[in-house]
Amino acid sequence: MSLWARKAKSARSIATGGTAFSRCDILDQVEAVGAGAFWATDEEGRLAYLSTGALDALGGNEESLIGRPLIEIFTGVHEESGEEAQRTLGFQLRSRSRFENLIVRVDVAGHGDGSPGRTRWWRVSGKPYIDQKGCFQGYRGSSIDITAEYGRQLEAAEHSQYDPLTGLANRRRMASRLSMQLSACKVAGRSCALIMLDLDRFKQVNDTLGHPAGDELLKQVAERLKTVIKDRGEIGRLGGDEFQVILPDIDDRGDLTDLSARIIQMISQPYSINGKRAIVGTSVGVAIAPYDGIESDELNAAVDLALYAAKGSGRGLCRFYTADLRESAEQDSRIEEDLRDALVKGEMQMHYQPLVSPQDHTVRGFEALMRWVRAESGPVSPAKFIPIAEQTDLIVQLGSWALRQACEDAVQWPGQLRVAVNVSAKQFMNADFPKIVASALSSSGLEPDRLDLEITESVFVGEVEAVDKTFAQLKRLGVRLAMDDFGTGYSSLGYLNRAPFDKIKIDQTFVHGCSAGGTTNPAIISAIVALAKALGMKTVAEGVEAMDELALVTERGADLVQGYIYSRPLTHDAIMERSGTESFVFPPSGPPRYRADRMNYFRKIGVIHEDHYYKAMLRNLSKTGARIEGLAGVEQGTALILDLGGGQLAVSKVVRAEETAQGLKFETALIGDGNDGLMTRHRISPYALATAGMPLAALPPGSYPLAEQMSGSNSPRKFFEVDVDRKSRF
Ligand code: C2E
Ligand code: MG
Ligand code: MG
Repeated sequence: MSLWARKAKSARSIATGGTAFSRCDILDQVEAVGAGAFWATDEEGRLAYLSTGALDALGGNEESLIGRPLIEIFTGVHEESGEEAQRTLGFQLRSRSRFENLIVRVDVAGHGDGSPGRTRWWRVSGKPYIDQKGCFQGYRGSSIDITAEYGRQLEAAEHSQYDPLTGLANRRRMASRLSMQLSACKVAGRSCALIMLDLDRFKQVNDTLGHPAGDELLKQVAERLKTVIKDRGEIGRLGGDEFQVILPDIDDRGDLTDLSARIIQMISQPYSINGKRAIVGTSVGVAIAPYDGIESDELNAAVDLALYAAKGSGRGLCRFYTADLRESAEQDSRIEEDLRDALVKGEMQMHYQPLVSPQDHTVRGFEALMRWVRAESGPVSPAKFIPIAEQTDLIVQLGSWALRQACEDAVQWPGQLRVAVNVSAKQFMNADFPKIVASALSSSGLEPDRLDLEITESVFVGEVEAVDKTFAQLKRLGVRLAMDDFGTGYSSLGYLNRAPFDKIKIDQTFVHGCSAGGTTNPAIISAIVALAKALGMKTVAEGVEAMDELALVTERGADLVQGYIYSRPLTHDAIMERSGTESFVFPPSGPPRYRADRMNYFRKIGVIHEDHYYKAMLRNLSKTGARIEGLAGVEQGTALILDLGGGQLAVSKVVRAEETAQGLKFETALIGDGNDGLMTRHRISPYALATAGMPLAALPPGSYPLAEQMSGSNSPRKFFEVDVDRKSRF
């Protein structure tokens, strides 16, 4: 019998309709149906009474419970109500105030026979009991065991750590994992890589195949990511088509480059969704703690910038964070702002690059290329501003202007010279596009068959019917269509069949350098020419610069050639000046042979030798070595460390020594940075720098101030720094 029951033996009975009920009986029955239990404390806050059912639930050991402070028995409070509620319970008990519906944890001890303890969850309410004399006598309260229900809630909370669609960790879990991981890194001086990816063209899959198909695609993407990552790290879906991977203890940028390449390759394979084929790609950004950020916020911001840069430099690429990305992202947003006013301010121009017949060097037409001369900083490359215009839809407005301008200019050109205008997928997708073309033609008076529209394969990801309708409308207008940059996209032959193209432009990547030998490019050019012939289309070889390239593409049967070998893009006025005769002739002129682009640098770098720091000029950089200039007295065989900036130190040896220039070989080869540059696999760790007395911070841009660190050395300097004139030798 419980203490309460014993005390209550003297309790009065209630008589109703002849039946006598003891209050205690009723309470016992209430408890027996699971409606609640009762407890009481003495004036010191110690448990004085617990009803039988509750005692049993707690292992039935009355002696170990009665007399213990209540705050010790209710060992924890609902996680969500957190510390505050825990404090509240203690506070309320001390201040003798009432509390209601607090969820508390009650730990049930094992039986001392080795059986494990259990945890139960109770919802408790309590009220101070003041006797007739106004004295506080302790608490009287009730409780109800909600372990089953609360357990489910806990489980649901556990589930809310995961994305229900893909089963991957959700944003919340990734955030807490990352901050845990980074804290651990700080303690142990370890590293942690963060990869962020975002699918390219996912929106089109959703738009064309529907949202359920989009969901299915995300699931398949998650599976593929798991296959690549295995147990090396945790993968999460942050929402939409954004995924993240946390990879503890990896900081080798070579390994991360390989891993990212595998991710990109896996994700870019076609998907089969309910019997339909879908293709997406992905861009990847990588940031590594502690180099790019010590805390979560910093590392997340870094990886976002890296991803943004990856998307900006073309799709399907991986970029690593470097401190200068921050500045270039700011530049991009300024470009976007200025681009909005560029048309109104008259900063846009159209230039025209000839398309020439290699047989007789006569011009057959011109490709219209947009030029932007920005008031504050001069010309901006289309490779820079067109992608920004595409992202922001400004391209629709700019593209319409380009079309009008090109038609107005071309109508003044002599003979039947044609003009080719680039059309981005966004413009093409606009339902009004055929009307815009028709209006440009009618207001300029240009005959429709003198206008080519250059379209890239990216238009085909649009909704099939709408795309086909636009093609049919354009054909009806009588304009011609050219497939631009052929070979760089998905190059499905089906596309060529589906749209009535008149011309295929063989992308520069196959043309430039095609004569170098050791590549399959000549074979690809032949194949594209043969394919075009079979389909009744003409071919244009883009980007021909050298005589041997011209000879090769001519021999392989390209109908037209466009490239610096004939001319760079010209202004309309320049064309009018040259157009004395009806048939233009542009004699080819260029280097006889293709030469691989050599990277010539004029970049100041640091050179570390023993405990001295020197400044030198980097003149040439390859994966395996470098040429530096500006140090005198360096002998062959000397070991030097190059400080390439951003914490990149390359251990190297002098293999060729001239008076003030040296050829160096690196101990560990550099790797590509995904942006035509090179980088070291490893960087100097901010932890190492902190040990050397510097503040712990992510690596700053540029040359690390190791120079100042090393300036205190007393030993004599071995080399002299000499001024090198940028132009003297090159
Ligand atoms: P694209 O349509 O493939 O244009 C050819 C690009 O190759 C032009 O670059 C041209 O100047 C360049 N090029 C021509 N011959 C050579 C050569 O021998 N060597 C090298 N290295 N390059 C050569 P540009 O003018 O910088 O334009 C870049 C891209 O920007 C164009 O590629 C096109 O996709 C886009 N673009 C340019 N103007 C427009 C426009 O008005 N509308 C749209 N939507 N896109 C445009
Ligand atoms: Mg083009
Ligand atoms: Mg092109």
